Amino acid sequence: MKALRKLEPGPGQVAVVEVPDPDPGRGQVRIRVMRGGICGTDLHIYHGLFSKVRPPVTLGHELAGTIDALGPGVDHWNVGDRVTAESEAFSCGQCRWCRAAMTNICPERLALGYGVDGGFATFVCTRASALHRLPETIGFDEGALSEPLTVAVHAVEERAELKTGAWVLVTGPGPVGLLVLQVARAAGGRVIVSGTRKDTDRLVLAERLGAEAVILVDVQDPLERILEITGGRGIDTAFECSGVSAAAHNCIEAVRRRGEIVQVGLYGRPVSLELDPATMKEVQIKGAFTHTHATWRRAMDLLAGGAVDLRPLVSGTYPLNAWETAFGQAEAGAGIKYLIDPQDAG
Ligand SMILES: [Zn+2]
Ligand SMILES: [Zn+2]
Repeated sequence: MKALRKLEPGPGQVAVVEVPDPDPGRGQVRIRVMRGGICGTDLHIYHGLFSKVRPPVTLGHELAGTIDALGPGVDHWNVGDRVTAESEAFSCGQCRWCRAAMTNICPERLALGYGVDGGFATFVCTRASALHRLPETIGFDEGALSEPLTVAVHAVEERAELKTGAWVLVTGPGPVGLLVLQVARAAGGRVIVSGTRKDTDRLVLAERLGAEAVILVDVQDPLERILEITGGRGIDTAFECSGVSAAAHNCIEAVRRRGEIVQVGLYGRPVSLELDPATMKEVQIKGAFTHTHATWRRAMDLLAGGAVDLRPLVSGTYPLNAWETAFGQAEAGAGIKYLIDPQDAG
């Protein structure tokens, strides 16, 4: 089969190569991948800026497809079932975090697409316990966006302490930012989304998806606008989704005393930040990283119930061989989310 692989550490070193079809091991299934989502992490891996990658490895941790083969010991699933899969391929099951069902922070966690072979390939093998059936109304395009949706659900519902009516700031209207917006809205937040002039189209979409207001930080003074919008109160909960230090700075400035900032974006490099205002306002800063099994169940409920709409986020689908164009589009920030169709030989 064909697979898009990171071949060596460092910048670049990514190519479509021919590899043997994988066989599902005990407790695993083989999925025929219909769609794989390109994520900021894939771009970081491409540029050699992601420390967790273990080359040689097939990229892609966001996927949807149909079950193609069952390994030994797999019940409750059938060939042909439409599924998506948790990106967590392995967690140790023994550490204090695993035993508390927080497998996302297991020190030995391995994820599809950088710890083990992922979904930018004709087939991927993964544990049957990672599977989630796609709701009938949900297509493969949206199915491939389940993983970023779970990132948003984890940040909003499991890390933040968001109250109905709270003022929320989302910095960075990329795919995860637009999903955090939708999940925060579903949780009763009043959401302001900020970005730069190059995000104009994404901010228009943010308004369509329910943002109370959007801010162009390179045109308007973000703090002034936020105080105006919130009647001088400031932000209760900020979600930093851009991985840009200027945005983190805006979060620290805009959040009220005893407010909270959830850091969702990854920077991929050291950054410098003025933290004294956070100390003096007693702001809580929390990380939010990936998702657990419980997060996925919750995300599937939100999807099936129509509380979030993933379709407007899909900007284009490319054959596996056109991955460079697709990565370039994702990097340029022209659209929102670009998908790979590994079954398209084009
Ligand atoms: Zn991702
Ligand atoms: Zn563990």
